[in-house]
Amino acid sequence: MFAPVMDQPSIATDWTFAATSYISATLFPDNPTPSPKAASLAHTLDLSSKPADTAPVNITGLTRDELTQALIDSGVVEPRKANMRMQQMWRWMHHYGVTDFDLMTDIAKDQRALFPEKFTLSRPEIVERQISRDGTRKYLIRMAPGIEVETVYIPDVGRAGALCVSSQVGCTLNCTFCHTGTQKLVRNLTTAEIVAQVQVARDDLGEWPSPKEDRRLSNIVFMGMGEPLYNLDHVANAIEIISDNEGIALSRRRITVSTSGVVPELANLGNRTAAMLAISLHATNDALRDVLVPLNKKYPIAELMDAIRAYPQLSNARRVTFEYVMLKGVNDSPAEARALINLLKGIPAKINLIPFNPWPGTDYQCSDWKTIEAFAAILNRAGYASPIRTPRGRDILAACGQLKSESEKKRASTLRREQKATPAETVETASNEDNDHSESLPFAHLAAGMVS
Ligand code: SAH
Ligand code: SF4
Repeated sequence: MFAPVMDQPSIATDWTFAATSYISATLFPDNPTPSPKAASLAHTLDLSSKPADTAPVNITGLTRDELTQALIDSGVVEPRKANMRMQQMWRWMHHYGVTDFDLMTDIAKDQRALFPEKFTLSRPEIVERQISRDGTRKYLIRMAPGIEVETVYIPDVGRAGALCVSSQVGCTLNCTFCHTGTQKLVRNLTTAEIVAQVQVARDDLGEWPSPKEDRRLSNIVFMGMGEPLYNLDHVANAIEIISDNEGIALSRRRITVSTSGVVPELANLGNRTAAMLAISLHATNDALRDVLVPLNKKYPIAELMDAIRAYPQLSNARRVTFEYVMLKGVNDSPAEARALINLLKGIPAKINLIPFNPWPGTDYQCSDWKTIEAFAAILNRAGYASPIRTPRGRDILAACGQLKSESEKKRASTLRREQKATPAETVETASNEDNDHSESLPFAHLAAGMVS
C-alpha cells in the first residue's frame, strides 16, 4: 500500500508512521453510505450498549469520584469508608492491573466476596493478536457482540511506543478520503471500552504494575476510528483514568487527540483533558476542505484556526500537530505547501504529511513519492521538520480492521493467500474459521509522526 515509502528506504530518515487502531464493525456488514440526515442525527446518538441495571458494572471505566459513588450506591461499602476503599481498589485496578477482586488483599475477604455481584473488572475478549516482524502489535478486541475494535501498538514511536485507540464505532463525518466515513452509524465507545484498549495492550506488554521507567507503552493517540470530540465525555474520562498518577500514569503530554475540527469542543477538550491536539487539516482553502472534510462547511478554516490559537497551554513545547493527507493532484502542489505555511503562521505547530491509504471504491490516489518529498522540502525550508520513517506492521496489516463487505471479503481471500506466503512472526487467534478476522484489508490509514 505504501509502496512509495517502502520502496525508498534511502529517503526514509525518521518520518514517523503510527499505525492507527481500527474497528471492525461487523454489526453493519453492508456498509451503505449514510444520508446526510442520518449522519447529522447519528453523531448525537449514544448507542453504547447500556448494561441492564442488574448487570455488574465494569468499574475500570469509572473515574475516582464515580467509583466512590458506585461503592456507596452498591451498599457494599459504608459511605465513611468509601473514599479509602476507592483508593485501595484504584491501585489494584490501575497500578497492578488485577482482574480479580480476590487479589485485593488489603480489603477484608468477606467484603471482596461481595463485589462480583455488583461489579466486574473483566477485560474484553481478545479475538485475535498479531505481532509484526517490526514489533507492531495488533489486537482485535470484542467489546460487545458485533462490536470489535482493532487497537495497534507501535514500538519506537513517541518516547518508547504508541498505542492508537478508537473513540467510536464508525464515524458520521464522511470525510471523502476516509473509509471510516463510509460507515452508517456511530456507537460511542464507553469510557471502560476506551480504557480497555490500553489495559489489553499493557497485559500483553507485561506492563503491570505500572513501571516508573523504561515503559514500552509511553504514548496514546486517539487516531483510530471515530471523531473523539463527538464522544468527549467518555474520551475525557478515559484520559483522566489513564493519566492518573496512581494508576497507568501516562502523562497528558503524551496523549494526543486527533480531530477533524469540531470547533465548539476544542476549548472543552483542552480544559478538560490537557491533552495534546492534532488537527486533520488536509486542505488550505475552504473550497477544497469543504469537499475533503465536509465538517468544514460548518466550521470553516478561519474559525478553526481561531479556535486552535485559543487552545489552552499552546507553546513551543506543546505544539499542535497538523495532519495533511497527501492526495495525488488534489492538495499536493508546491503552492499548497506554501499556503499551508502561511496558514500556520504564529501557531506553535508540527506538520505530519500522511500518504493517502487507498481503499476499494475510492477515487483518490496517494501522491507520488517525489511530490511528497518536494512538499516536505518546502515545509522543511520554512522550519517544519518532516522526518520520514517507514510504515509499520505491514505484514500484519496493522493499520487495518476495516468494515467488511462482500467485495472486501473477496479481496481478502487473495490477501490471505499472500499472507500465508509471507507469514507474520506471531499470530494467535481465538477465532474459528467463521470468525476469521485476518481478512482485514491493508488500506486503513497510517498516521504520520503523531507523537514526539
Ligand atoms: N476522526 C479523527 C481521528 C481519526 S482519523 C480525525 O479525523 O482526526 C485519524 C487520521 O487519519 C486523520 O488525520 C484522518 O484524516 C486520517 N485518515 C483517514 N483516512 C485516511 C486514509 N485513507 N489515508 C490516510 N489518512 C487517513
Ligand atoms: Fe471521521 Fe476522522 Fe474519518 Fe473524517 S477522517 S470520517 S472525522 S474518522
